[in-house]
Amino acid sequence: MGIRLRSLVILLGIIFVSSSSSVYADEVVVEVDDLNVRSGAGLHFEEIMQVEKGQEFSILKEQDEWVQIEADGKKGWIAKWLTKAKEGSNTVIVNTGTLNVRGYADTESEIVGSFHRGDTVKYISQKDDWYQVETTSGQEGWIAGWLVKEAEAESTSKEGGVVKNATEDGITAERIQLLYNHTNLRSSPSTKSRVVGTENEGETLQVVEKQGDWFKVKYKGSYAFVADWIVLEKESNSDQADGNLNGKNILIDAGHGGRDSGAIGVSGAFEKDYTLKTALALKEVLESNGANVQMTRKSNIYLPLFLRSYFSNSSSADVFLSLHYNSTPQNTAARGINTYYFHERDQNLATYVQRNMIEATNFQDRGIKHGNFHVIRENHKPSLLLELGFLSDLDEEHIIEQEEYHSRVSQGIAEGLIAYFQN
Ligand SMILES: [Zn+2]
Repeated sequence: MGIRLRSLVILLGIIFVSSSSSVYADEVVVEVDDLNVRSGAGLHFEEIMQVEKGQEFSILKEQDEWVQIEADGKKGWIAKWLTKAKEGSNTVIVNTGTLNVRGYADTESEIVGSFHRGDTVKYISQKDDWYQVETTSGQEGWIAGWLVKEAEAESTSKEGGVVKNATEDGITAERIQLLYNHTNLRSSPSTKSRVVGTENEGETLQVVEKQGDWFKVKYKGSYAFVADWIVLEKESNSDQADGNLNGKNILIDAGHGGRDSGAIGVSGAFEKDYTLKTALALKEVLESNGANVQMTRKSNIYLPLFLRSYFSNSSSADVFLSLHYNSTPQNTAARGINTYYFHERDQNLATYVQRNMIEATNFQDRGIKHGNFHVIRENHKPSLLLELGFLSDLDEEHIIEQEEYHSRVSQGIAEGLIAYFQN
């Protein structure tokens, strides 16, 4: 190939890559052993080869939950949920339920698109605390920097630092309280920087991040810095015991998904959506207790049972938890929580988790039961299937609908795991 032609091909390659993948990470790392590479983007496509854990591939295309790669000179598709985005520059991971993309770097600006928790977003540029990105439909816009985390930081963010990332609704945001009157708020983290305002003792401010000895806080529609030696740190979730699950690997399996809706609630809502909501809440609680969390699915995708147990068996999970909601249309009076285990070895784990979920939620205690379910039967890891309440009961579903229930039951599960690991 002539030099001129070759450089043209390279140039076209760059244009192709930058236009097709500017939203997602460019490379993935395989997370499991013997991952099948298929001829198309779906489980029904033929296996053409296998790739191994730790191998890295450039993403050629993305479709649904699949990515196209090239290995040994052959192109094929691998399941995106069995890979992770390669930690690279210029990518951030969405750290809030729904992240709006706005026309300008301003929270008042119009919404032009959105991303969801866990999405990896490649940014084009950065301005103040905003990232310029491209939406999946190709429109440029801006996302708030305090609602994402740097892709590189992901592996270290599990240490359970004091400052938690702010969320859009501010629930888990940490606040600080000023200890002295006439405390200066500054334009940058230095005592030599400009004073942008003065506040008095007792004033609380929302923390965006910690920079050295300084807190970056939200202040009058913008940001300011305050020295950490003149403030009191207030954790909004002060009951969270930090680090009790340090180093433990927990695999969360949100039951059902995609074309499998699971049970349908009295309200018409689907079990698959409730399980995902709980799974995401549980992930946050477990991570804030120091655990490393993986999920079999992070979005509304169909995932066959054998893949869920396969994922568990090929992972380093210390515990696998499959989350479900119950329904008995025939007996609408049924209520409460129960825990299934299959292997005798998991009876203790079931007891701890069940007891703590009941304490955290005050739901009716339906106890632990032996259950012959694929995801726990075929699982080599300590594993449970949790039935977290009845969607067929009008009142119970009404509780389950609320955010608060998901964090409460998650807190109970976390406490159950802590007790299990301590004993
Ligand atoms: Zn279910």
